[in-house]
Amino acid sequence: MKRYVLGFMFNAAGATLVLIKKNKPKWQAGLWNGVGGKIEEGESPAYAMVREFQEETGLETVQTDWKPVALMRHRDPGAWPPKLEDFEVHVFACAGQNITAVHTATDEVVIVRRVDASLMDYNMVPNLKWLIWLAREALFEKQIRTTLIEYGELSVDEKHERKYVAEGGLTCPVCGSDAVEGAGYVEVNGVGCTNEVKCLACRSEWLDEFKLSGLTITRKRPTEAT
Ligand SMILES: [Zn+2]
Repeated sequence: MKRYVLGFMFNAAGATLVLIKKNKPKWQAGLWNGVGGKIEEGESPAYAMVREFQEETGLETVQTDWKPVALMRHRDPGAWPPKLEDFEVHVFACAGQNITAVHTATDEVVIVRRVDASLMDYNMVPNLKWLIWLAREALFEKQIRTTLIEYGELSVDEKHERKYVAEGGLTCPVCGSDAVEGAGYVEVNGVGCTNEVKCLACRSEWLDEFKLSGLTITRKRPTEAT
């Protein structure tokens, strides 16, 4: 399995972050991404994060600067053993004390940019639309813990689950029963994810939509079971 790190360094206020304009791989060429790269044989993810960040931005950090915020995996749920193209990306966030010291250190341009402006930019690797927010929340809101994201699957962390329950999640919008059951996975797209849910009491089914940027839940109209 190929293993990568991806890091988002924010300034102390969380208002700006470091981005790099990718030349490679081909599917990222011309797009902004966080800073990262391949985890070499024998490296821990945090070690690789420090090394890659120094190589690409010239700025030295230490492993404890980087907080793990998510683990993205690609796998085909039906494929066992896992396919060769399976990969995992260890996502880190850091509140940089010295963010303005970053500079272009390779053939890939490094900038410090406002978070809000970055999210408006279509020339970004698409999953950054929500990864940046996820990383920022994980860094600046203390109670969050590591989130596991799998392409095709996503398990929501504790804090998000609490918010989900507080907003009426996990109860049936038709009969109010809390005997509801989600499909075992959440579909992730560029801006959020959806989960099929059904009520075990009245058999209604509906779709919960999670917007990962801001984490609001839009409840689709439930359909009565036949
Ligand atoms: Zn119900």
